[in-house]
Amino acid sequence: MDRYRETVALINLNHLYQNYQNVQKLVGNKTIIPVVKANAYGHGAIEVVRYLHERKVDQYAVSLLEEALELRAEFPDIKIMCMGVIEGEGLKIASKNDIVVTISNFDQIQSIPKMKSRLTVHLKVDTGMNRLGFKDLNDIIRAIELLDDNPRIHLEGIFTHFSTADNDKSYYDMQLQKFQDILSRISYPFEQIHISNSSSQIKYETNYDFTTHTRLGISLYGLTLDENMDFLKNTFTLKTKISQFKNLVPGEKVGYGATYSATDHERIGILPIGYADGFIRKNEGGDVEINGKRYLIIGRICMDQMFIKVDDTITKNDDVILMGGIVSIDEVAERLDTINYEIICSITNRVPREYIK
Ligand SMILES: *Cc1c(COP(=O)(O)O)cnc(C)c1O
Repeated sequence: MDRYRETVALINLNHLYQNYQNVQKLVGNKTIIPVVKANAYGHGAIEVVRYLHERKVDQYAVSLLEEALELRAEFPDIKIMCMGVIEGEGLKIASKNDIVVTISNFDQIQSIPKMKSRLTVHLKVDTGMNRLGFKDLNDIIRAIELLDDNPRIHLEGIFTHFSTADNDKSYYDMQLQKFQDILSRISYPFEQIHISNSSSQIKYETNYDFTTHTRLGISLYGLTLDENMDFLKNTFTLKTKISQFKNLVPGEKVGYGATYSATDHERIGILPIGYADGFIRKNEGGDVEINGKRYLIIGRICMDQMFIKVDDTITKNDDVILMGGIVSIDEVAERLDTINYEIICSITNRVPREYIK
Protein backbone atom coordinates (compact mmCIF):
# COMPACT_ATOMS: atom_id res chain seq x y z
CA MET A 1 0.00 0.00 0.00
CA ASP A 2 1.20 3.53 -0.68
CA ARG A 3 2.29 5.41 2.36
CA TYR A 4 1.35 9.05 2.94
CA ARG A 5 2.46 9.35 6.53
CA GLU A 6 6.06 9.35 7.72
CA THR A 7 5.44 6.84 10.52
CA VAL A 8 7.00 3.45 9.77
CA ALA A 9 8.51 0.42 11.44
CA LEU A 10 11.81 -0.44 9.78
CA ILE A 11 12.49 -4.15 9.93
CA ASN A 12 16.11 -5.10 9.42
CA LEU A 13 15.99 -8.60 7.92
CA ASN A 14 19.71 -8.62 7.43
CA HIS A 15 20.18 -8.22 11.19
CA LEU A 16 17.55 -10.86 11.81
CA TYR A 17 19.47 -13.35 9.72
CA GLN A 18 22.73 -12.39 11.44
CA ASN A 19 21.03 -13.08 14.77
CA TYR A 20 19.94 -16.45 13.42
CA GLN A 21 23.50 -17.24 12.36
CA ASN A 22 24.99 -16.08 15.65
CA VAL A 23 22.55 -18.09 17.72
CA GLN A 24 23.20 -21.09 15.47
CA LYS A 25 26.82 -20.98 16.68
CA LEU A 26 25.53 -21.48 20.23
CA VAL A 27 23.25 -24.38 19.39
CA GLY A 28 25.74 -26.46 17.45
CA ASN A 29 24.10 -29.03 15.22
CA LYS A 30 20.56 -28.45 16.54
CA THR A 31 18.08 -27.12 14.00
CA ILE A 32 16.62 -23.73 14.89
CA ILE A 33 12.86 -23.49 14.44
CA PRO A 34 12.20 -19.75 14.12
CA VAL A 35 9.05 -18.84 16.04
CA VAL A 36 7.02 -16.47 13.86
CA LYS A 37 3.75 -16.34 15.81
CA ALA A 38 1.96 -13.01 16.26
CA ASN A 39 3.09 -11.84 12.83
CA ALA A 40 6.70 -12.66 13.69
CA TYR A 41 6.51 -10.63 16.91
CA GLY A 42 5.23 -7.65 14.93
CA HIS A 43 7.91 -7.88 12.23
CA GLY A 44 5.68 -9.35 9.49
CA ALA A 45 5.61 -13.15 9.31
CA ILE A 46 5.46 -13.44 5.52
CA GLU A 47 8.46 -11.20 4.95
CA VAL A 48 10.49 -12.78 7.75
CA VAL A 49 9.80 -16.30 6.50
CA ARG A 50 10.47 -15.31 2.89
CA TYR A 51 13.87 -13.92 3.83
CA LEU A 52 14.88 -16.87 5.99
CA HIS A 53 13.48 -19.43 3.56
CA GLU A 54 15.60 -17.94 0.77
CA ARG A 55 18.51 -18.66 3.11
CA LYS A 56 17.54 -22.32 3.47
CA VAL A 57 15.60 -22.15 6.74
CA ASP A 58 12.59 -24.40 6.19
CA GLN A 59 10.88 -25.17 9.50
CA TYR A 60 8.84 -22.60 11.46
CA ALA A 61 6.51 -22.44 14.46
CA VAL A 62 3.37 -20.36 15.00
CA SER A 63 0.61 -20.36 17.58
CA LEU A 64 -2.64 -20.40 15.61
CA LEU A 65 -3.90 -22.45 12.71
CA GLU A 66 -4.87 -19.14 11.10
CA GLU A 67 -1.23 -18.05 11.24
CA ALA A 68 -0.10 -21.38 9.82
CA LEU A 69 -2.56 -21.18 6.92
CA GLU A 70 -1.47 -17.67 6.05
CA LEU A 71 2.11 -18.91 5.74
CA ARG A 72 1.07 -22.06 3.87
CA ALA A 73 -0.74 -19.99 1.22
CA GLU A 74 2.51 -18.19 0.50
CA PHE A 75 5.05 -21.00 1.03
CA PRO A 76 3.96 -24.45 -0.19
CA ASP A 77 7.14 -26.26 0.81
CA ILE A 78 8.11 -25.12 4.30
CA LYS A 79 7.40 -27.09 7.46
CA ILE A 80 5.00 -25.25 9.78
CA MET A 81 4.23 -26.28 13.33
CA CYS A 82 1.29 -24.94 15.27
CA MET A 83 1.93 -24.71 19.02
CA GLY A 84 -1.60 -23.80 20.15
CA VAL A 85 -4.55 -26.16 20.66
CA ILE A 86 -6.41 -27.30 17.54
CA GLU A 87 -9.43 -29.59 17.71
CA GLY A 88 -11.89 -31.33 15.40
CA GLU A 89 -12.38 -29.68 12.02
CA GLY A 90 -9.23 -27.66 12.58
CA LEU A 91 -7.25 -30.89 12.58
CA LYS A 92 -8.69 -31.81 9.20
CA ILE A 93 -7.73 -28.41 7.80
CA ALA A 94 -4.26 -28.79 9.30
CA SER A 95 -3.88 -32.20 7.69
CA LYS A 96 -5.06 -30.95 4.31
CA ASN A 97 -2.56 -28.12 4.46
CA ASP A 98 0.29 -30.18 5.83
CA ILE A 99 0.50 -28.26 9.10
CA VAL A 100 2.16 -30.01 12.03
CA VAL A 101 -0.14 -29.94 15.05
CA THR A 102 0.66 -29.95 18.75
CA ILE A 103 -1.29 -32.47 20.81
CA SER A 104 -1.67 -31.19 24.36
CA ASN A 105 -4.70 -33.04 25.78
CA PHE A 106 -7.09 -35.97 25.34
CA ASP A 107 -9.96 -33.77 24.10
CA GLN A 108 -7.90 -33.08 21.02
CA ILE A 109 -7.17 -36.75 20.45
CA GLN A 110 -10.83 -37.68 20.85
CA SER A 111 -11.83 -34.95 18.42
CA ILE A 112 -9.61 -36.22 15.60
CA PRO A 113 -12.02 -36.54 12.65
CA LYS A 114 -11.90 -39.12 9.89
CA MET A 115 -9.30 -37.81 7.49
CA LYS A 116 -8.15 -38.76 4.04
CA SER A 117 -4.69 -37.32 4.44
CA ARG A 118 -2.04 -37.81 7.08
CA LEU A 119 -1.65 -35.53 10.07
CA THR A 120 1.78 -34.99 11.61
CA VAL A 121 1.76 -34.21 15.33
CA HIS A 122 4.12 -33.34 18.16
CA LEU A 123 3.23 -34.29 21.71
CA LYS A 124 3.39 -31.50 24.29
CA VAL A 125 4.62 -32.39 27.75
CA ASP A 126 3.91 -30.09 30.67
CA THR A 127 6.93 -30.18 32.99
CA GLY A 128 5.97 -27.28 35.23
CA MET A 129 4.54 -24.40 33.23
CA ASN A 130 1.02 -25.69 33.92
CA ARG A 131 -0.22 -24.33 30.64
CA LEU A 132 -0.58 -26.76 27.74
CA GLY A 133 0.48 -30.38 27.62
CA PHE A 134 0.24 -33.75 29.36
CA LYS A 135 1.63 -33.86 32.88
CA ASP A 136 1.50 -37.48 34.07
CA LEU A 137 3.65 -40.25 32.69
CA ASN A 138 0.64 -42.58 32.37
CA ASP A 139 -1.27 -39.98 30.37
CA ILE A 140 1.73 -39.48 28.12
CA ILE A 141 2.05 -43.22 27.53
CA ARG A 142 -1.68 -43.49 26.84
CA ALA A 143 -1.60 -40.51 24.45
CA ILE A 144 1.31 -42.03 22.54
CA GLU A 145 -0.62 -45.33 22.23
CA LEU A 146 -3.75 -43.62 20.97
CA LEU A 147 -1.84 -41.55 18.43
CA ASP A 148 0.31 -44.45 17.33
CA ASP A 149 -2.80 -46.62 16.79
CA ASN A 150 -4.31 -44.14 14.36
CA PRO A 151 -2.96 -44.93 10.86
CA ARG A 152 -3.60 -41.34 9.74
CA ILE A 153 -1.44 -39.87 12.49
CA HIS A 154 2.29 -39.48 12.21
CA LEU A 155 3.66 -38.86 15.71
CA GLU A 156 6.86 -37.09 14.82
CA GLY A 157 7.95 -35.10 17.83
CA ILE A 158 7.78 -34.44 21.54
CA PHE A 159 8.53 -31.21 23.38
CA THR A 160 8.19 -29.15 26.50
CA HIS A 161 8.43 -25.46 27.37
CA PHE A 162 10.35 -23.79 30.20
CA SER A 163 8.57 -21.33 32.41
CA THR A 164 11.41 -19.67 34.27
CA ALA A 165 14.58 -19.94 32.26
CA ASP A 166 15.00 -16.21 32.62
CA ASN A 167 15.11 -16.06 36.40
CA ASP A 168 15.03 -19.36 38.26
CA LYS A 169 17.67 -21.96 37.50
CA SER A 170 16.41 -24.52 40.02
CA TYR A 171 12.91 -24.58 38.53
CA TYR A 172 14.49 -24.89 35.11
CA ASP A 173 16.60 -27.82 36.33
CA MET A 174 13.49 -29.48 37.76
CA GLN A 175 11.64 -29.16 34.43
CA LEU A 176 14.61 -30.48 32.50
CA GLN A 177 14.95 -33.44 34.87
CA LYS A 178 11.25 -34.22 34.58
CA PHE A 179 11.39 -34.19 30.80
CA GLN A 180 14.42 -36.47 30.73
CA ASP A 181 12.78 -38.86 33.19
CA ILE A 182 9.73 -39.06 30.96
CA LEU A 183 11.84 -39.62 27.85
CA SER A 184 13.73 -42.42 29.55
CA ARG A 185 10.47 -44.23 30.34
CA ILE A 186 9.03 -44.18 26.85
CA SER A 187 10.58 -45.97 23.96
CA TYR A 188 8.84 -44.26 21.06
CA PRO A 189 11.34 -43.26 18.33
CA PHE A 190 10.66 -39.52 18.10
CA GLU A 191 12.28 -37.83 15.13
CA GLN A 192 12.16 -34.39 16.70
CA ILE A 193 12.72 -33.47 20.34
CA HIS A 194 12.85 -29.80 21.35
CA ILE A 195 12.78 -28.03 24.68
CA SER A 196 14.43 -24.61 24.49
CA ASN A 197 13.21 -21.12 23.90
CA SER A 198 15.58 -18.17 23.54
CA SER A 199 16.40 -17.50 27.12
CA SER A 200 16.97 -21.11 28.18
CA GLN A 201 19.01 -21.66 25.04
CA ILE A 202 21.20 -18.62 25.50
CA LYS A 203 21.44 -18.60 29.25
CA TYR A 204 21.92 -22.28 29.89
CA GLU A 205 23.09 -23.33 26.43
CA THR A 206 20.72 -26.27 26.51
CA ASN A 207 22.68 -28.03 23.86
CA TYR A 208 21.70 -31.48 25.01
CA ASP A 209 22.34 -34.46 22.83
CA PHE A 210 18.85 -35.81 23.38
CA THR A 211 17.31 -32.80 21.60
CA THR A 212 17.24 -32.27 17.86
CA HIS A 213 15.66 -28.81 17.49
CA THR A 214 15.30 -25.55 19.38
CA ARG A 215 12.39 -23.07 19.14
CA LEU A 216 13.68 -19.52 19.05
CA GLY A 217 11.70 -16.31 18.86
CA ILE A 218 12.84 -13.21 20.72
CA SER A 219 16.58 -13.74 20.20
CA LEU A 220 16.16 -13.77 16.43
CA TYR A 221 14.47 -10.40 16.86
CA GLY A 222 17.58 -9.14 18.62
CA LEU A 223 16.23 -9.17 22.17
CA THR A 224 16.54 -11.27 25.31
CA LEU A 225 15.12 -11.20 28.78
CA ASP A 226 18.56 -10.57 30.21
CA GLU A 227 20.84 -7.63 29.69
CA ASN A 228 21.10 -7.08 25.95
CA MET A 229 23.66 -9.44 24.49
CA ASP A 230 25.88 -7.69 22.02
CA PHE A 231 25.92 -10.54 19.54
CA LEU A 232 22.25 -9.78 18.88
CA LYS A 233 21.37 -6.88 16.61
CA ASN A 234 18.30 -4.67 16.65
CA THR A 235 15.71 -5.63 14.02
CA PHE A 236 12.83 -3.25 14.81
CA THR A 237 13.04 0.55 14.58
CA LEU A 238 9.96 2.73 14.93
CA LYS A 239 10.41 6.12 13.32
CA THR A 240 8.51 9.10 12.05
CA LYS A 241 9.01 12.78 11.21
CA ILE A 242 7.65 15.97 12.70
CA SER A 243 4.51 17.09 10.87
CA GLN A 244 4.24 20.55 12.40
CA PHE A 245 6.07 22.85 14.85
CA LYS A 246 4.54 25.17 17.45
CA ASN A 247 6.18 27.95 19.42
CA LEU A 248 4.90 28.40 22.95
CA VAL A 249 5.12 31.34 25.27
CA PRO A 250 5.42 30.77 29.01
CA GLY A 251 2.17 29.48 30.50
CA GLU A 252 0.73 28.02 27.27
CA LYS A 253 -0.56 24.49 27.58
CA VAL A 254 -0.31 21.42 25.38
CA GLY A 255 -2.74 18.65 24.44
CA TYR A 256 -5.78 16.99 26.02
CA GLY A 257 -6.22 17.84 29.63
CA ALA A 258 -3.79 20.72 29.14
CA THR A 259 -1.36 18.74 31.28
CA TYR A 260 1.86 20.29 29.99
CA SER A 261 2.58 23.90 30.63
CA ALA A 262 5.43 25.83 28.96
CA THR A 263 7.72 27.43 31.49
CA ASP A 264 9.69 29.37 28.91
CA HIS A 265 9.60 30.21 25.22
CA GLU A 266 9.54 26.67 23.94
CA ARG A 267 9.44 24.95 20.56
CA ILE A 268 7.52 21.73 20.25
CA GLY A 269 7.04 19.23 17.41
CA ILE A 270 3.88 17.30 16.58
CA LEU A 271 4.43 13.66 15.57
CA PRO A 272 1.95 11.73 13.39
CA ILE A 273 1.75 8.68 15.65
CA GLY A 274 -0.42 7.91 18.67
CA TYR A 275 -1.95 5.23 20.80
CA ALA A 276 -3.91 3.78 17.87
CA ASP A 277 -0.51 2.84 16.48
CA GLY A 278 0.30 1.05 19.70
CA PHE A 279 2.39 3.91 21.09
CA ILE A 280 0.37 4.04 24.29
CA ARG A 281 -0.36 7.00 26.54
CA LYS A 282 1.92 5.75 29.25
CA ASN A 283 4.89 6.74 27.04
CA GLU A 284 4.43 10.36 28.13
CA GLY A 285 7.59 11.55 29.86
CA GLY A 286 9.85 9.18 27.88
CA ASP A 287 12.43 10.16 25.27
CA VAL A 288 12.68 9.98 21.50
CA GLU A 289 15.87 10.28 19.46
CA ILE A 290 16.59 12.91 16.83
CA ASN A 291 20.05 13.25 15.25
CA GLY A 292 21.58 11.15 18.00
CA LYS A 293 20.14 13.27 20.82
CA ARG A 294 17.29 12.66 23.26
CA TYR A 295 14.11 14.77 23.26
CA LEU A 296 11.24 14.61 25.73
CA ILE A 297 7.70 13.36 25.04
CA ILE A 298 5.34 15.94 26.57
CA GLY A 299 1.56 16.21 27.03
CA ARG A 300 -0.94 13.40 26.66
CA ILE A 301 -0.41 11.09 23.72
CA CYS A 302 -3.46 11.32 21.42
CA MET A 303 -4.95 8.62 19.22
CA ASP A 304 -3.03 9.77 16.12
CA GLN A 305 -0.62 12.46 17.28
CA MET A 306 1.81 13.25 20.06
CA PHE A 307 4.07 16.08 21.19
CA ILE A 308 7.79 16.36 21.78
CA LYS A 309 9.85 19.25 23.04
CA VAL A 310 12.53 20.19 20.49
CA ASP A 311 15.16 22.89 19.95
CA ASP A 312 15.93 25.23 17.06
CA THR A 313 18.26 22.75 15.36
CA ILE A 314 15.46 20.33 14.45
CA THR A 315 13.80 20.38 11.01
CA LYS A 316 10.95 18.47 9.43
CA ASN A 317 13.47 16.36 7.53
CA ASP A 318 15.00 14.86 10.63
CA ASP A 319 14.11 11.30 11.54
CA VAL A 320 12.45 10.94 14.91
CA ILE A 321 13.24 7.49 16.30
CA LEU A 322 10.75 6.36 18.93
CA MET A 323 12.44 3.03 19.62
CA GLY A 324 15.18 0.84 18.23
CA GLY A 325 18.02 3.39 18.34
CA ILE A 326 19.51 5.23 21.30
CA VAL A 327 16.14 4.70 22.91
CA SER A 328 16.16 0.91 22.81
CA ILE A 329 13.14 -1.38 22.83
CA ASP A 330 14.29 -2.48 26.28
CA GLU A 331 14.19 1.13 27.48
CA VAL A 332 10.62 1.50 26.24
CA ALA A 333 9.71 -1.79 27.94
CA GLU A 334 11.17 -0.52 31.19
CA ARG A 335 9.33 2.79 30.79
CA LEU A 336 6.06 0.92 30.40
CA ASP A 337 6.83 -1.57 33.14
CA THR A 338 6.69 -4.59 30.85
CA ILE A 339 8.90 -6.89 28.73
CA ASN A 340 10.34 -6.20 25.29
CA TYR A 341 8.12 -8.92 23.73
CA GLU A 342 5.04 -6.87 24.52
CA ILE A 343 6.49 -3.69 23.00
CA ILE A 344 7.17 -5.13 19.54
CA CYS A 345 3.89 -7.07 19.52
CA SER A 346 1.85 -3.98 20.35
CA ILE A 347 2.77 -1.73 17.44
CA THR A 348 -0.43 -2.05 15.42
CA ASN A 349 -0.94 -2.87 11.77
CA ARG A 350 -1.66 0.78 11.03
CA VAL A 351 2.11 1.27 11.11
CA PRO A 352 3.50 0.01 7.80
CA ARG A 353 6.50 -2.29 8.00
CA GLU A 354 9.36 -1.52 5.62
CA TYR A 355 12.17 -3.97 5.11
CA ILE A 356 15.91 -3.52 5.04
CA LYS A 357 17.43 -6.51 3.26
C1 LIG B 1 6.74 -18.27 21.96
C2 LIG B 1 7.26 -19.62 22.21
C3 LIG B 1 8.62 -19.92 21.99
C4 LIG B 1 9.64 -18.87 21.63
O1 LIG B 1 10.04 -18.18 22.81
P1 LIG B 1 11.12 -17.03 22.80
O2 LIG B 1 11.26 -16.67 24.23
O3 LIG B 1 10.56 -15.90 22.00
O4 LIG B 1 12.36 -17.57 22.19
C5 LIG B 1 9.01 -21.25 22.13
N1 LIG B 1 8.12 -22.20 22.50
C6 LIG B 1 6.82 -21.94 22.74
C7 LIG B 1 5.91 -23.05 23.12
C8 LIG B 1 6.34 -20.65 22.62
O5 LIG B 1 5.06 -20.39 22.87
